[in-house]
Amino acid sequence: MSGSETIFERILHGGAPADVVYEDEHVLAFRDLRPQAPVHVLVIPKKRARNLSDLREWDATGAGGFIRGVAAAAASLGLEEAGYRVVMNCGRHGQQSVDYLHAHILGGRQLHWPPG
Ligand code: AMP
Repeated sequence: MSGSETIFERILHGGAPADVVYEDEHVLAFRDLRPQAPVHVLVIPKKRARNLSDLREWDATGAGGFIRGVAAAAASLGLEEAGYRVVMNCGRHGQQSVDYLHAHILGGRQLHWPPG
């Protein structure tokens, strides 16, 4: 694809390495390069979206497939019993640094609130 591909698209298309932990028809999940918790995984949709706002244009099957993939990735990581957090940073105030939709799954320790 073009030079404007994000790092997550390169991972998705096999052009960059990643520690993949879960994959299904709708999503790919891999470990974050700079983990903020013992378990820190990013889940990206296989269909391109810049951030959550783009999902307004998706049908229920596509949007549901993404959310279901996040839940399935968390389950595959063994996080369901103790719990976990899902974060989607959107845009400038959300401090989104990669312009390709991704959900952070954080777990493996007690998390605190508010996040700041
Ligand atoms: P955000 O700030 O929500 O856009 O999150 C982007 C996340 O992507 C950060 O937590 C980065 O550590 C992570 N990240 C950036 N490049 C890579 C990569 N090549 N592999 C895995 N995680 C990455």
